[in-house]
Amino acid sequence: MATMRAAQVSKPNGDFELVERPVPEPGAGTVRIKVQACGICHSDSAVREGTFPGIEFPRVPGHEVAGVIDAVGSGVSQWKPGQRVGVGWHGGYCGHCDPCRRGRFFACQTGQVTGLTFDGGYADYVIAPASAVARLPEELSAEEAAPLMCAGITTFNALRNSGARPGDAVAILGLGGLGHLAVQFAAKMGFHTIAIARGKDKEPLAKQLGASVYIDSRAQDPAAELLTRGGAKAILATVTSAEAMSAVLGGLAVEGTLLLIGAVPSMQVSPLSLIMGSKSVKGWYSGTSIDSEDTLVFSARTGVRSMNETYSLDDVRDAYDRMMSGNARFRVVLTTGQ
Ligand SMILES: [Zn+2]
Ligand SMILES: [Zn+2]
Repeated sequence: MATMRAAQVSKPNGDFELVERPVPEPGAGTVRIKVQACGICHSDSAVREGTFPGIEFPRVPGHEVAGVIDAVGSGVSQWKPGQRVGVGWHGGYCGHCDPCRRGRFFACQTGQVTGLTFDGGYADYVIAPASAVARLPEELSAEEAAPLMCAGITTFNALRNSGARPGDAVAILGLGGLGHLAVQFAAKMGFHTIAIARGKDKEPLAKQLGASVYIDSRAQDPAAELLTRGGAKAILATVTSAEAMSAVLGGLAVEGTLLLIGAVPSMQVSPLSLIMGSKSVKGWYSGTSIDSEDTLVFSARTGVRSMNETYSLDDVRDAYDRMMSGNARFRVVLTTGQ
């Protein structure tokens, strides 16, 4: 029987175990993908630490998958072996629950999440529902595409649904794995792009990525700085600091929106400041497979790229620790050598 490598977690806070498993067969409605690259996302800590509701062990994390379809299950007509594809956080949808019937596939009640409710891409092969799969454009290598499957789609899709129009001021809070992509997307979308991060040293990078304005939140009050420029039509908060999120809220323009994609349990919001100016605070779910395709094609056309640190799948422990250290510049990607 053919076998493969998989990096699994067997219990909450357990270490990664590189195990040999049989290469899985694709069931009805699924495809098998030969994994070439898989990004490591901070959300993978929900597997490692066992904090994701209802998670079952052992589990192979990984929801920034890029590779090639090598087998398809019964009933799959839209995908063929040999196609280059990716899979992100959204793990497919059923098509018949109430949210699906309303066209809100992202909110499908089956709640499938790649690498959390089924095994993900820290492996040589992954089985994914056909509805979770996105085409990769030729111009992007697997390693370039992988981080776009979560960090990319989440920021791209939030920005294009932010209500801001070309020319509007849009601020990106944070300049890490998500933020360094968000600044590029915002600039390429034609927004007046304002980057907010801690420390003067990040300014050259922010400008290089396409920001017109840089605000050092250590030295300046970011909300006041935004207001002197007329306020931001949208602020995309990519950080995981509730204080940092609350600190920018006052910088929204009239009818502006603070979009949250950094998952923190709570933050301070002043209803009064929202009411005076009809402003909003909104969470943003990453998106479905077609949103991933849009992200990939936009990136291929406009030159948006993730800056990556690459590790072999065999070095998954070092790679994960590097991501958790917060020092990676900027996304950590595993490659299988396939
Ligand atoms: Zn993610
Ligand atoms: Zn559904």
